[in-house]
Amino acid sequence: MKAIVVRGPFQYKIEECEIKPPAQGEVLIKVEAVGLCGTDVGILSNEMQYYKTGQAKLPIIPGHEWSGYIVETGAGVEDFVPGDAVTGECTVRCGFCSYCQKGLPHLCTNRTETGVMNRDGGYAQYITFPAASLHKINGISMDHAALVEPAGIAMQAVKRAGIGPDDNVLIVGPGPIGLLAAQIAKKIFAAKKVIISGTRDERLERAKDYTDAAINVKNEDIAEKVKAVTQGEGIDAVVIAAGGSTVFHDCEKVLSPGGRISICGFFDSTKAECSWDFISTNNIDIRGSLGSPNVWSFVISSIQRGILDVENIISHRMPLESTEDFQTALDMMTSRADNSCKIILYPNGEKR
Ligand SMILES: [Zn+2]
Ligand SMILES: [Zn+2]
Repeated sequence: MKAIVVRGPFQYKIEECEIKPPAQGEVLIKVEAVGLCGTDVGILSNEMQYYKTGQAKLPIIPGHEWSGYIVETGAGVEDFVPGDAVTGECTVRCGFCSYCQKGLPHLCTNRTETGVMNRDGGYAQYITFPAASLHKINGISMDHAALVEPAGIAMQAVKRAGIGPDDNVLIVGPGPIGLLAAQIAKKIFAAKKVIISGTRDERLERAKDYTDAAINVKNEDIAEKVKAVTQGEGIDAVVIAAGGSTVFHDCEKVLSPGGRISICGFFDSTKAECSWDFISTNNIDIRGSLGSPNVWSFVISSIQRGILDVENIISHRMPLESTEDFQTALDMMTSRADNSCKIILYPNGEKR
């Protein structure tokens, strides 16, 4: 099969790889759709945290937002049969460590992360995957199923921010995760006011149906606009879905005493300053948000029931048949060419 293999910083290309037959408890899946993600950029450059700490080893086939059809099941697989349409969790837990026992699989000490850390991902024609971390996607298109993973990341970030009907919410960063988090905060957690901030009007425009206001921080005063939109109340919870250097200064301008900050964005090599006295004297909670533990079934049913609109973030659909195809899509995402947002790739050519 053909797959994108990363062997070093910026060393990646399509290679001919062996298809791994499914072992006990595993299935073999033909990948139909895979979403290109900002995290991939950090993996390709090896600047992503896991590569800097040495937790993640090379080579790896990246791609953590994928969907496909089961073509073969290994021994002991009972809940899935060939032909099932599925998507798989990024985090694959061991099931035995103290974190797994506590229901915190995203912190599993023996975990792998599909296409991210020590487990091959979906920029490939086939993926061999444990059935225990797989979900059926009945009724959802392959494109939309590939976005269950980022929607799960957004869901977890909103949950970590403790968002509810009494909260005015600021989402920092109108990338795919920020847009999904805004939608989830408004439609699922019924936040009072949802405001999204960023630097690109066309991205902010995508959020207009599920936000109360959008702020372009390049030409608008975030403090003044938040004050106006919230009738002077300010922000109770912030979801940081971008790794900009000034994000904490923006929080300081708008966050009310007792506010919460949930961080799911990666900063890679960017250093973001924070006024720690503001955090202590205002009793602010800062929470990291890793992964998408225990939210997959809920995300899938939210998409199935039409509550969560993942089509909203898709900007392009492109082939993935050559290294050039991959580079073209990657360049398009990083340069935001043609107002790109989420780009869906097809490792087996077909468009569904
Ligand atoms: Zn992603
Ligand atoms: Zn574990």
